[in-house]
Amino acid sequence: MRVPLIAGNWKMNTTLSEAIELVSGILRELDKIDNVDKVLCPPFISLAAVGELIKGSSIKLGAQNLYFVEKGAYTGEISPLMLTDLCEFVIIGHSERRQYFNETGEIVNKKVQAALKAGLKPILCIGERLEENEAGLTEEVVTRQLRSALTGIDRLSGMIIAYEPVWAIGTGKAATGEQANQTIGFIRRNISELYDTEAAQNVRILYGGSVTAENATEFMQQPEIGGALVGGASLKADQFLSIVRQTSEIRRR
Ligand code: PEP
Repeated sequence: MRVPLIAGNWKMNTTLSEAIELVSGILRELDKIDNVDKVLCPPFISLAAVGELIKGSSIKLGAQNLYFVEKGAYTGEISPLMLTDLCEFVIIGHSERRQYFNETGEIVNKKVQAALKAGLKPILCIGERLEENEAGLTEEVVTRQLRSALTGIDRLSGMIIAYEPVWAIGTGKAATGEQANQTIGFIRRNISELYDTEAAQNVRILYGGSVTAENATEFMQQPEIGGALVGGASLKADQFLSIVRQTSEIRRR
């Protein structure tokens, strides 16, 4: 049985003091919820402080991005080595990075390679845009993104995949549980072809895109869905706790 994972992607939200306040407000309750891996992904500048707060708890930490070079003259960038001291996970290939920062499949692949080399667990995001969805290209797009991101990688080593249809991110227009389950099943079959059935069975594939306390159960009860990458709702303490609780309850059934 795969343990579900819920990750909160705070994106470019929260100052340091707001991050501390948000974590302090959910820490005790979140820590108590079992049967679910809980990951918080605050902005870089808050990683160390949040890391201190969650020390000794069951909550894990992730970064939202990284650069693929270990160190050097890359002003403003954060290297994998800088992150290994701070966190266990790192989001790679988020559609906002692909869209606003021109991250190509090749860059995403370099980042995945660099993260794995440093011992970080990538949360690799893939997903189609609205026009691709409407043109019936979802499977083609996720296959291309997946295969390109995994080029040269012979073991998944704890990697997480997040299926995030771009049209559902931050729009309030989530996919249906059934749609997400179908595409995630398709991604799993791809993993089986690229690696083997064991890797495909073990890999956790999350759904992301307007997950809220209102629709979480619809997604989490689907057999292929291994958890959620939550953006907006992860900034609201009650919403995030409720999503994690619902996931734990479904797992207990
Ligand atoms: C995300 O940031 O990955 C995301 C899914 O955002 P939201 O939940 O706000 O749609």
